[in-house]
Amino acid sequence: MSRTSNMPSLVDDADVKQIGVSGKSAGGSGGGGGFGEKLKLFGSLIGIAAAIGIAVYTMTGGPPDIGEQTRYVVVKDSESGEVNTKFAFPKGERWPWTNRSTGKRTLYPVEACYWTKDNQVKLPPTYVILNSAMGKNEKTICPDCGREVRGNNPPPPAEMMAKALEDQGK
Ligand SMILES: [Zn+2]
Repeated sequence: MSRTSNMPSLVDDADVKQIGVSGKSAGGSGGGGGFGEKLKLFGSLIGIAAAIGIAVYTMTGGPPDIGEQTRYVVVKDSESGEVNTKFAFPKGERWPWTNRSTGKRTLYPVEACYWTKDNQVKLPPTYVILNSAMGKNEKTICPDCGREVRGNNPPPPAEMMAKALEDQGK
């Protein structure tokens, strides 16, 4: 049964074999062809869906590297002051990162300042872009409490943080 069909598809061949190659040809194989075309279309749809899935996956988080998940960082827009607490860290790319809503490279990493003016702890904290992150050789002062903010800014004492968390939950 290795008669070479003029239909290139394997599905068509199988179809013809099942029918028994009684071979009135034109009409029968035409029908088989239609079935095959549908299968082929179905197959390519799956292929397209898979491709889209992969593309979306790549855009949203990238392929999972060994031992490293997508990291989220808190960023702030240096122009609008808008804070994004779940910014997908663009690996290997130095800030300023691109703000997708404006297309401008105005996103910077931040430090968190948990202090209020009257020495209480607040949640969520004030997010501050360090001057050094923007290439300025100046101290960074928290606009909310007036304290100096540094790299790896030290948080308030643990018990104060715990109390603030507790109050926040009420
Ligand atoms: Zn502050």
